[in-house]
Amino acid sequence: MSTYTEKVLKMVKKRNPGEAEFHQAVEEVFESLDPVFERHPVYEEHGILERLVEPERQIIFRVPWVDDEGNTKVNRGFRVEYNSALGPYKGGLRFHPSVNVGIVKFLGFEQIFKNALTGRPIGGGKGGSDFDPKGKSDAEVMRFCQSFMTELSRHIGFQTDVPAGDIGVGGREIGYLFGQYKRIKNKYEAGVLTGKGLDWGGSLVRTEATGYGLVYILEEMLKDNKISLNNQKVVISGSGNVAIYAAEKITQLGANVIAMSDSSGYLYHEKGIDLELVKEIKEVNRGRIKEYLQKYPDAEYCDKCTDIWSIKCDVALPCATQNEMDADAAQQLIDNGVIAVGEGANMPLTPEAIKLVKDNDLFYIPGKAANAGGVATSAIEMTQNAMFDDWTFDKVDQKLKSIMVNIYDDASAVAEEYGMEDDLVAGANIAGFLKVANAMIDQGVV
Ligand code: NDP
Repeated sequence: MSTYTEKVLKMVKKRNPGEAEFHQAVEEVFESLDPVFERHPVYEEHGILERLVEPERQIIFRVPWVDDEGNTKVNRGFRVEYNSALGPYKGGLRFHPSVNVGIVKFLGFEQIFKNALTGRPIGGGKGGSDFDPKGKSDAEVMRFCQSFMTELSRHIGFQTDVPAGDIGVGGREIGYLFGQYKRIKNKYEAGVLTGKGLDWGGSLVRTEATGYGLVYILEEMLKDNKISLNNQKVVISGSGNVAIYAAEKITQLGANVIAMSDSSGYLYHEKGIDLELVKEIKEVNRGRIKEYLQKYPDAEYCDKCTDIWSIKCDVALPCATQNEMDADAAQQLIDNGVIAVGEGANMPLTPEAIKLVKDNDLFYIPGKAANAGGVATSAIEMTQNAMFDDWTFDKVDQKLKSIMVNIYDDASAVAEEYGMEDDLVAGANIAGFLKVANAMIDQGVV
């Protein structure tokens, strides 16, 4: 690293103690940026890195609510409004017991560059709570969401900050959040949240967007290298929103998904996963993936999630959570002949796993580029809301596809320009950085 990036990284670690995931995300971006600072001292002169790592605003708040037994509960809510150089803050809300300020900052920091890559006018932000929706009744989730939004509503707006879903926040939660926002503000501000229901301002394809987008960019990268997805064996971790729709699209393109997981364990079905059954278990019944065995006793279930990467496959799509693939897992995939790894989740590979994947010349698409389809389609939802319009599935899907192809083209071109051909990590980080940094310079020291 250059003295500039080293100096700022040291400052980040000192100023934000104990936030390991945030340090990891910053370091991963900084590692790509030295060639930019060598060529363009203007960014250092304008203190761009020092400003970029510091969120414009961080809000931490109490979320009190009452459970079904009448007990008072208190969770902690977060919204980090990270960077608005390109547009209103935009990024999801995560409800999971592991959520803390460091996790929200890592996600918000990554979101700045991801959103820039989409080419849409959106800044970066992220939020959430340590609330665990698992095992809660609908009424409890509703009361929690209403309390969360009672405070959050002071800080967001369609031109200010536009949250969406992430882990633990799907259509149900967005509905409760939107209802409470509307009640408090006394106005129907459709563009304040994305991922809404289709009858009340949502966009077709938003549900599918992150998973489909991941497969579109993977397809483009492989096509560029004369490889088809047809008949490839695919392992996908997770069975949530991203995993399910990545599985759906890659199956449509002729590949065979043989394993999926949830936070309790993984499922291996050699002849191919029955995705409709997974949808029924996870989306409709909010059940456990293990229940799949009741219909398919010939499938195998193992309760050690990370062992999913020991299954021999051609394509691995980590779509569950951060740091879910370590060096041992990556090595197993490599030993078994994997050709491509695409990150559906945010930061699912540890730095050691990334190094192995790059050193072994796998086709590797980092999350910033690979999972940008979700937020890109959220921006398309905002466009429709602003126009009081709704577009067809095909129209939105075509737009999503062209955005993903553009991201691949931009990141590849920038990587080549900076002498790192085929390195999409560097290409995505630099391409995203340049857009944000140039806007920050244009807008002065704010
Ligand atoms: P969901 O809550 O819908 O699904 C998460 C899935 O991952 C669940 O199946 C969950 O299991 C599983 N899971 C969690 N931890 C583990 C683990 N350690 N091992 C195996 N499985 C695990 O979340 P999303 O699909 O929305 O998000 C997944 C990832 O994608 C996150 O990193 C998120 O930040 C990222 N992402 C999401 C976007 C979106 O549009 N939704 C956009 C861009 C990125 P269980 O059912 O047991 O909880």
